[in-house]
Amino acid sequence: MKTLKIAIQKSGRLNEKSVELLKNCGLSFENYKSSLISPVSNFPLEILFLRDDDIPEYVQDGIADLGIVGENVINETEVEVAYLQKLGFGKCSLKLAIPNKGGIEALADLNGKSIATSYPVILRKFLEQNGVAAEIRTISGSVEISPGLGLSDAICDLVSTGGTLKSNGLIPFADVMHSEAVLIGRKGIEEDPLTIELIQRVQSVLRAKETKYVVLNIEQKNLGAIESLLPGIKSPTVVPLAEEGWVAVHTVIPEKDFWSKISQLKAAGAQGIVVMPIEKIIL
Ligand code: ATP
Ligand code: MG
Repeated sequence: MKTLKIAIQKSGRLNEKSVELLKNCGLSFENYKSSLISPVSNFPLEILFLRDDDIPEYVQDGIADLGIVGENVINETEVEVAYLQKLGFGKCSLKLAIPNKGGIEALADLNGKSIATSYPVILRKFLEQNGVAAEIRTISGSVEISPGLGLSDAICDLVSTGGTLKSNGLIPFADVMHSEAVLIGRKGIEEDPLTIELIQRVQSVLRAKETKYVVLNIEQKNLGAIESLLPGIKSPTVVPLAEEGWVAVHTVIPEKDFWSKISQLKAAGAQGIVVMPIEKIIL
């Protein structure tokens, strides 16, 4: 039987979440830090552990069929791959940042200035689109210290919390791109049945992460008021309780409007609200 290969980051910011996602998809494999390749025992898949920079090209060239990598790395390497699924982790922004006392107020003020970055391809396109003629200084790491060393007037770097910028006296100034981890595949692999199966498993894990399972008790006469608040997957399950006139309602609600829903449910007469995480949702 054919075996697929999926490339994930060997170590770094995306490694742990990538491994967790694959394990939540029911895949059993050893996560040896020392090995480059790990077979999955219960699915025809092998996991390749690589530097994230190499993943897009490995996938484009078919050395790996699939890969998990940040969109920033895909755009920077300008590869031709299929985007299969956004994964909701590794979120960050590529931002332009300037020293606190820089005298730069608008993008146009970057004309004639130098910008240090590890993302010259993305930055060049952004500057062209905005009609800015600045000099790009490509450096592979510790970009944030370059203005302090007099190497550049500004930087373009990945930011998630902004803490690193702040501690280096830099202020974010413009967003170049937003990024998150995505599942990519070599062109054409989206038709492959094993890939389709894997994407479905990934989606069921992601859906479950975005929702909570809620059980609550309510007087039968108040049921109408809460049913409109709880669309559920189809509609809520309503079970009679031993106590006359009371029912238990089982449903799922989206994580994002969780707190506002809970207070609306309480206001509508819900009691004994129990909230549980969901492992998978298969539609
Ligand atoms: P590798 O050794 O695999 O080349 P790396 O040092 O290039 O790793 P990491 O710092 O581990 O990369 O980041 C991997 C990815 O995590 C980034 O490409 C980006 O998509 C995402 N990411 C999320 N938040 C941040 C952040 N604050 N800084 C950098 N990357 C971030
Ligand atoms: Mg890298």
